[in-house]
Amino acid sequence: MYALDDTIVAISTPIGQGGIGIVRMSGPEALAIALGLFVPPGRGMTDGVEPNRLYYGHIVDPNTGRVVDEVLLSHMKEPHTYTREAVVEINAHGGVVPLREILALCLASGARMAHEGEFTLRAFLNGRIDLAQAEAVLDIICAKTEASLRVAVGQLGGRLSQEVRAIRGRLVGLLAYLEASIDFPEDDIPPRQIGPDLEQARKELSDLLAQAGQGMVYRQGVRTAIVGRRNVGKSSLLNRLLRSDRAIVTPIPGTTRDTLEETLNLQGIPLVLVDTAGIGETVLVVEQMGMERSRRSIQSADLVLLMVDGSQPPTRADHEVASLIAGKTAIVVVNKSDLPPAYGHAQVLPEAPHVSLSAETGEGIPNLESLVLETIFAGKVTTSNEPIASNPRHRDVFRRALAHVLEAQEALSQGLPADLVAIDVAEAVNALGEITGETASEDLLDTIFGSFCIGK
Ligand code: GDP
Repeated sequence: MYALDDTIVAISTPIGQGGIGIVRMSGPEALAIALGLFVPPGRGMTDGVEPNRLYYGHIVDPNTGRVVDEVLLSHMKEPHTYTREAVVEINAHGGVVPLREILALCLASGARMAHEGEFTLRAFLNGRIDLAQAEAVLDIICAKTEASLRVAVGQLGGRLSQEVRAIRGRLVGLLAYLEASIDFPEDDIPPRQIGPDLEQARKELSDLLAQAGQGMVYRQGVRTAIVGRRNVGKSSLLNRLLRSDRAIVTPIPGTTRDTLEETLNLQGIPLVLVDTAGIGETVLVVEQMGMERSRRSIQSADLVLLMVDGSQPPTRADHEVASLIAGKTAIVVVNKSDLPPAYGHAQVLPEAPHVSLSAETGEGIPNLESLVLETIFAGKVTTSNEPIASNPRHRDVFRRALAHVLEAQEALSQGLPADLVAIDVAEAVNALGEITGETASEDLLDTIFGSFCIGK
């Protein structure tokens, strides 16, 4: 894909103004290039740079002698580094201009500009981490809540990889047995119970698949629309939910508009508020936005909170909004429970669960939170036991692997020849290898690492 034997360089901190910014280099020439640009105080340093220490000095343009910035330089010696290669980090002041100039000097001295995710790609290709762990790096950077972060850190630590390797290992053992019995039918191969091993793999894959659904909720969040006619209290609810210091704002990679989306942290589950352009604009006022836009926002949501005013009988507008929601996962929020109740709200979206609360006083908010959690996980939430898989790619792999195991079970139960069973077992083994990267294609690697930013 890319050359592995050259030295890559990138600005590894976000572009903008920060207290510090880091230019990172990895590869065989990293130290030599850095030392050609680095001037310690008193021009001393005869015996070079020891690894894992910080050195104070300046980056100086070797052609002009001009001081570019005051920096701290560190050198980490291979193989105990992020990439398993020599890594140099230049901690400079975090402005765009000094960082770009230092980058340019490194490039002029023989380094190559790193591609997206190339540092992490090298860590993968050099065998320090597997593919699932490399993906976890991105998930950690993008984690929206503490719970999402814990799932990602678990994945970086290898929890998912270990589990997948165990299942794959069992299937590989089965495959070896099946192939031996195909190749040497007359030999005395000890009879083996294929059925129980296959059944075990099926069970484990089903569990992982179920978990991946839950894990994706942590990783990607639940796209949530808060809808209702004017003045029912949507802004008030939002403000109440956003208060208590739980509001977090996360840039969500891959959204077409590339805007910031507001995310609420609901007991670790990120609720991504749909169609927001800032807190003030968050609320979907149906009358103002028109039915068509409302319909689109509702369609793009995983969860719709339909709010009605519990102190007034439902109006035609309430029913109109409700009619847009048909077929969606929804909760009816009957607001203003601090006021004397009016009746008739049970008829608004009767198939959805209802919760009564007061956005003004906060009464009933915890009930809404638990109802949201129950609804998202359809009652199957296991908060104590965080999922280990959280990625749509992984879910797809588990689905395919499971389908092949089921086919193999089917072939076995119909008494089909061993080679037919073996084909499906082999497919399952291949699919699972895509998680950790043993069988990942170059295209797949391109897609995964292409979603990283440059410098990671
Ligand atoms: P929106 O148009 O749906 O965003 O509604 P707002 O949040 O702006 O609220 C409309 C009005 O209802 C405001 O005057 C709020 O103070 C009031 N309001 C909102 N929630 C409650 C509540 O729980 N109890 C009472 N008594 N008033 C509320």
